[in-house]
Amino acid sequence: MFEAKLVCTHCGAEYPLASGLYKCPKCGAPLDVTYHYDDIANLIEDDDPWFRESPHVWKYWMFLPVSNLKRIVTLNEGGTRLYRLKRLEEKLGFGKLYVKYEGENPTGAFKDRGSSVEITKALEFHARKVIVASTGNMAASVSAYGAKAGLEVTIVVPEGTPGEKLTQARMYGAKVEVFGKTYDEALAEAERKAMEEDYYLTGNYHYRVEGQKTTGFEILDQLRYNVPDWIIVPIGAGTHLRAIWKGVKEFYKVGLVEDLPRIAGAQIEGYDAIVRAWKTGKPIEKVQKKVPTIASAIAVKKPVDGENVIRAVRESDGHLDTVTNRETAEAGMLLGREGIFVEPSSATALALAKKMREEGVIDKDETVVVVATGHGLKDVKTWEKVLSGDFVV
Ligand SMILES: *Cc1c(COP(=O)(O)O)cnc(C)c1O
Ligand SMILES: [Zn+2]
Repeated sequence: MFEAKLVCTHCGAEYPLASGLYKCPKCGAPLDVTYHYDDIANLIEDDDPWFRESPHVWKYWMFLPVSNLKRIVTLNEGGTRLYRLKRLEEKLGFGKLYVKYEGENPTGAFKDRGSSVEITKALEFHARKVIVASTGNMAASVSAYGAKAGLEVTIVVPEGTPGEKLTQARMYGAKVEVFGKTYDEALAEAERKAMEEDYYLTGNYHYRVEGQKTTGFEILDQLRYNVPDWIIVPIGAGTHLRAIWKGVKEFYKVGLVEDLPRIAGAQIEGYDAIVRAWKTGKPIEKVQKKVPTIASAIAVKKPVDGENVIRAVRESDGHLDTVTNRETAEAGMLLGREGIFVEPSSATALALAKKMREEGVIDKDETVVVVATGHGLKDVKTWEKVLSGDFVV
């Protein structure tokens, strides 16, 4: 309703919204949806009931690119709680430490925010069958929303994807194709099939960004528009981090906040393409080797939103680094002792927060929000291996 156009995040080329593109035809980079922000600012100004409404993805409908709110596909995603962890903040020496627990979403991960918007758009474009490549959680999420919308869903996942996530997708009725050894190979296969077999392609594209930016909206909303010093996010493809930065900037543009947080991103050791480029100043290069990891959800060799992550971190004066499997496992156990069970990939954000505090990048008075992206029940087998010593971290 308030959306304006598509803009390429790399070369700046502009396209109309109805163009049905996945990437920039000129340079191949990801696209971005822009809005008429003045109109949004006018709409929400002094709208007290809106401010009092509890957070959930579609509360922020004016920032979402859909034409008919009566036809949205929703399972009541978002509205996940923001927990303050007082004991842990004392132990680790933060001013305030919050965890945004995305495991509380309908399928157990933040991906539902994006899937709700993407599948709504798929219906707008009259799709009948959709396809997605995934490390597991996006597959389960698209399967659930596709089922809700009555669409046929095919998921393409690499070997080694946690069985819990595949079982979940199959229970939602999806067709599962295991292809290749890494997410990057599964993605190439899904994109090829989409072209050749007339699927609507879902995944880390601009409409997903729109849904996933609501993680950023909700954090600010839940802190009553007090901006935290840091938001720390695990990086797989980098789309969630990019989206969160977009979301907080949009709240800034319409005058809901007067400040911006600094954004930090965590990659897992062995899958550090973005961190390497950030530290050396060189272009992002695909990592060559597939190495064993406990963080399968973020084991991405060439992150599609890598350049956008670097831009977000540069603009926000933020931070990027890798964490080890050991640091990640320890962080997961710290969260467990606070009553929060996350999958290994999600624990990288707290592992990085701890590392940044130890290195003095985060100050002792600062407020830190860690995004815990997915539920621990999503990957029980990996935690079993860590606990029994079968995966030596
Ligand atoms: C998808 C996913 C990520 C990574 O998000 P990106 O948008 O790919 O960077 C992190 N953690 C979990 C649990 C995920 O499912
Ligand atoms: Zn371009």
